[in-house]
Amino acid sequence: MTDKPATEQELIVGIDLGTTNSLVAYCDEKGPRILPDDQGRAVLPSVVRLNESDGSAEAIGHEARATAIEFPERTIHSVKRLMGRGMQDVKNELSQLPYRVVEGEQNTARVAVGGHVISPQAISAMILMELKQRAEAALGKPVRKAVVTVPAYFDDAQRQATRDAGRIAGLEVVRMVNEPTAAALAYGLGGAHPHKNDSLVKEKSAGGISLSTKLNPEVCAEDAKPQAAVPNTQDPTPNTQSQTIAVYDLGGGTFDISILRLEQTENGAVDQVLSTAGDTHLGGDDVDQMIIQLVMREVREQFGEKLQFPPATQQALRKFAEATKIKLSNETSADIEIDLGDGKLYKRTLTRDELEALAKPWVDRTMDACKQALRGAKLTIEEIDRIVLVGGSTRIPMVVEAVGDFFEAEPYTALDPDQVVALGASVQAARLAGTRQGGLLLDVIPLSLGIETMGGAVAKLITANSTIPARASEIFSTYAEGQTKIAINVYQGERELVADCRLLGSFELTGIPPMPAGLPKLNVTFVVDANGVLTVTATEERSGRRARTQVVPNHGLTRDEVQQIERDSFAHAKADMDAHRLIDLRLNAKLDIRNINKQLDRVGKGIEPGYHDEIEAHIATVQGMIDSPDDQVDADVFQQAMHDMDHATIRLAEVAIAQTLKGDLKQ
Ligand code: AMP
Repeated sequence: MTDKPATEQELIVGIDLGTTNSLVAYCDEKGPRILPDDQGRAVLPSVVRLNESDGSAEAIGHEARATAIEFPERTIHSVKRLMGRGMQDVKNELSQLPYRVVEGEQNTARVAVGGHVISPQAISAMILMELKQRAEAALGKPVRKAVVTVPAYFDDAQRQATRDAGRIAGLEVVRMVNEPTAAALAYGLGGAHPHKNDSLVKEKSAGGISLSTKLNPEVCAEDAKPQAAVPNTQDPTPNTQSQTIAVYDLGGGTFDISILRLEQTENGAVDQVLSTAGDTHLGGDDVDQMIIQLVMREVREQFGEKLQFPPATQQALRKFAEATKIKLSNETSADIEIDLGDGKLYKRTLTRDELEALAKPWVDRTMDACKQALRGAKLTIEEIDRIVLVGGSTRIPMVVEAVGDFFEAEPYTALDPDQVVALGASVQAARLAGTRQGGLLLDVIPLSLGIETMGGAVAKLITANSTIPARASEIFSTYAEGQTKIAINVYQGERELVADCRLLGSFELTGIPPMPAGLPKLNVTFVVDANGVLTVTATEERSGRRARTQVVPNHGLTRDEVQQIERDSFAHAKADMDAHRLIDLRLNAKLDIRNINKQLDRVGKGIEPGYHDEIEAHIATVQGMIDSPDDQVDADVFQQAMHDMDHATIRLAEVAIAQTLKGDLKQ
């Protein structure tokens, strides 16, 4: 009944049936995407509130979770921990579950609410049914088949229980995919490229655009609205090479590290789980607890050891601790302020460094599991081809760094770590349904990749049709004086202006020491690896500040769309080039005028009034062109005016230099 290829028309969705959250995704020619609910929410909390009188579902998902404190004994969460398990297997779990678990037929664990005994499969089915309806609403068609993911360590009974849950929900589970395998499939792994190493096939030196010349396009200083990278999909070129992948999955309450071998065959991906390790009670919730403990300790130190924290306060503290933790993933400090009533105000700033010191033993425990998994797989670090991050807690910078240091390679972070498993499940689903035949090939980069420069132009670092893997770097600088942060917007497309290209991702390089405009040396490096994943790194070389982002450029694009983009670029080539040229001319003209004005200030009365007026007239002409609308300025005339202004100010520059030298000698 399983694993049979579906017909062309069948819709098969991918489902991540998680312990805490569940998601449904669909993949077509454009690639995989999450199907959100009618309020745009991607995630469905895996929580069901049961009706005491008949054992039916009273609320599923967000609503059930929101009222969990009110109805603890009939709000069922973490039911995945009970799936296909006997009472014996789950006895350690029971103390953590506020609802009743009783023994059913053949020693199985079941949930008891009111007078009703309900199987974990039936409760999981309620969640699956909700996802099925969500998918049907989003796709506008009935959905009867799904690929569902399960943890790699699930045994036959647990897998069978998952399949049964699908059946109860009216879904045929056409294939079960291991969660780490799904995450790898979302990145197109397993279809290894003939050249596995990311050797440099193309290196652009910084020479093309040097800092000292005015032709240097400057990175846009203004913040562009960040936009999430479009989830990607694509068909890796099928071949027989396998890849060894480590999948590090750190969620709210569970941690799994899996090492697997993945191979693409004619019939889709074949995985072999070499080893798994982890801890079913280790996750981001522990970090929340660390913050709570810290706050409670300090509050008691300040306001009295006997101070009590009633359950409602503890619940509020938990939410607050999680928010603080999440804030510290993006910022280097977070202000904490808790009003305890009676004029008691607890206030402190928690820095990322402090949180990292607290959480270090927690991260170390996950590293111990990584060592164990490597030993289990009988592999060395060098034998791991890729590392994929899954789970919300992998957004913590310290975690990404620790994993990178351990495996001596940069982990994959391009896709949302909460969504990557569902996306991968849908990739497998699409392969089974035969809807991915038109996927993009990975041998070449189909569209140029670059960054936004000042004035809305695109500086292309990697051009279309470059062979994969590819690498390029260029040096940029700043336009504004004393700029301490630079927004890097990564674009894809063949056109010259960002307005006509596709934004893949944005990030900020912060903490640059204030310097005069043009002095910072910003090295931007693009690396597209053998799997088509693009890593963009920006380093300000004078200060050593560095930031990076990762995206999968080919997701969300069909072959037809790529061709259309190419055709558009030909059609607009002349107009685009003119527009780009005007942007560069305006930038350079502004810099020129700024310099000339500085020199005029410096020389003061050191030049005769007639010459001064002549220079002012040139400036006025060029300024007029800077201010004119595009359609009223001819680039050739503009360039000539700049040339004339340059020529006319040669003597001014000489006088200014001579005066500076004189001044220097006097000192
Ligand atoms: P998951 O079980 O994969 O849904 O992961 C949930 C966990 O990820 C929770 O502990 C969240 O607090 C945590 N989490 C989500 N986003 C972030 C973030 N930006 N920084 C740190 N932890 C996060």
